[in-house]
Amino acid sequence: MIIFGTKGYLYQLAILTLVCSGCGNPAAHTLRKRVTKFTLFFVPLFPISTKYATQCTFCGTEVKIGKEQAEQLQAQGAGAPAPYGQGQGQGYGQQPQQPYQS
Ligand SMILES: [Zn+2]
Repeated sequence: MIIFGTKGYLYQLAILTLVCSGCGNPAAHTLRKRVTKFTLFFVPLFPISTKYATQCTFCGTEVKIGKEQAEQLQAQGAGAPAPYGQGQGQGYGQQPQQPYQS
């Protein structure tokens, strides 16, 4: 007798601040990866499918996204430097704040 089935794994890859398509708030979203693995005798052997989604922590809206988009978001969430354009400090919105005086 052979026992086989599938088993799902859920990974939380990052937490990102995105504008939600459900509630319209710039809320924290979890970036998740769901992997379904084929199991044989309860031993997971290989993944059958991998799916990515973001979920709004404010309203719970889940949006499925593609792998490439997920990787981009994960890179953002990890604070990693952008893959294109190396080096920092090229007008990245971090101007010194000077109070206006008139
Ligand atoms: Zn939302």
